[in-house]
Amino acid sequence: MATERTLSIIKPDATRRNLTGAINERFEIRGLKIVAQKRIHLTLGQAQKFYQIHKERAFYDDLCKYMTSGPVVVQVLEGEQAITENRSIMGATNPANADEGTIRKDFGESVEANSVHGSDSPENAAIEISFFFADIDIVI
Ligand code: ADP
Ligand code: MG
Repeated sequence: MATERTLSIIKPDATRRNLTGAINERFEIRGLKIVAQKRIHLTLGQAQKFYQIHKERAFYDDLCKYMTSGPVVVQVLEGEQAITENRSIMGATNPANADEGTIRKDFGESVEANSVHGSDSPENAAIEISFFFADIDIVI
């Protein structure tokens, strides 16, 4: 078992419905600690850069536009196997396919507006955390 950090984003559909606290509770109940957090409004350029891994996908333009449609809360979660643990707390990409009790099942509106982002690997977690946070911003 190893302590890891992962990058989480509470997406515009969730901030619009004032769900930041309800979503953060899901992380804390499962033992993940929020060691950095800020509410920001992404520019289109920032969203395009963050999701550049998906730039060939059909949903890329819509996804980038959606991610700039309102504020997001970007955060670093820390805990045992935080990357896979967070993916389990989040549930499947499409809320319709997500397990009961997951964030996306309980709060997601659609495959696009699915309430949360979470890093999918240690490599991407490191890249995504440094996209939003400096080391000095992370307080354990
Ligand atoms: P995940 O967020 O579960 O890692 P992906 O990395 O595949 O999923 O996709 C990134 C984001 O793009 C998803 O969270 C969702 O907001 C959006 N997305 C994924 N697939 C689709 C799709 N088929 N149609 C619209 N939006 C999508
Ligand atoms: Mg992904």
